[in-house]
Formats: sequence, structure tokens, C-alpha cells
Amino acid sequence: MSDDMPMLDCRSAMQQLWDYVDGELTAERMQAVERHLDACANCHPHAEFAERFLAALHQTREDRSCPQDVRAKVMASLRDAGMKVT
Ligand SMILES: [Zn+2]
Repeated sequence: MSDDMPMLDCRSAMQQLWDYVDGELTAERMQAVERHLDACANCHPHAEFAERFLAALHQTREDRSCPQDVRAKVMASLRDAGMKVT
């Protein structure tokens, strides 16, 4: 295996998580984060949460609801997905 890039640690992966799901990292960093999230049982649920969160957000954005509705819908869809929402 040609593994020249060091595995990200959990902290750096989480710091870059939101940029990652937004696709705002360089291709190299996207790959590094992706590899960590795939392999790390700790971070995987966080990545899933972030992806669902953004998906729900984009969906409600198309509804043109008022911001409070959007927040409620996002929270509801996360709850439906079995996520713990505070
Ligand atoms: Zn991790």
C-alpha cells in the first residue's frame, strides 16, 4: 500500500469535518478526512450527522420556509434519523 500521507488524528478530522461535508477542502485534504472517517469508529457517527444535517438544511432551503421552521425541520429530520439532538 502506498501510504505516504499520515492518518489524520480525530481532532484534526473533526476540525475539518464541516469544511469536508461542504466540499471546501483541497482534494488532498478531502481524501485524508474521508479516509479517516471511513476507518474511524469514533468519527464516523459525527460525519453521518454532519452529512444528514446539511442534506436536511439544503432540503428546507428549497422550501423557502422561515428560519425557525427550517431549524425545526432540520432537528426533526435528524431525530428521525436516530440522532441525538439537544
Ligand atoms: Zn477519528
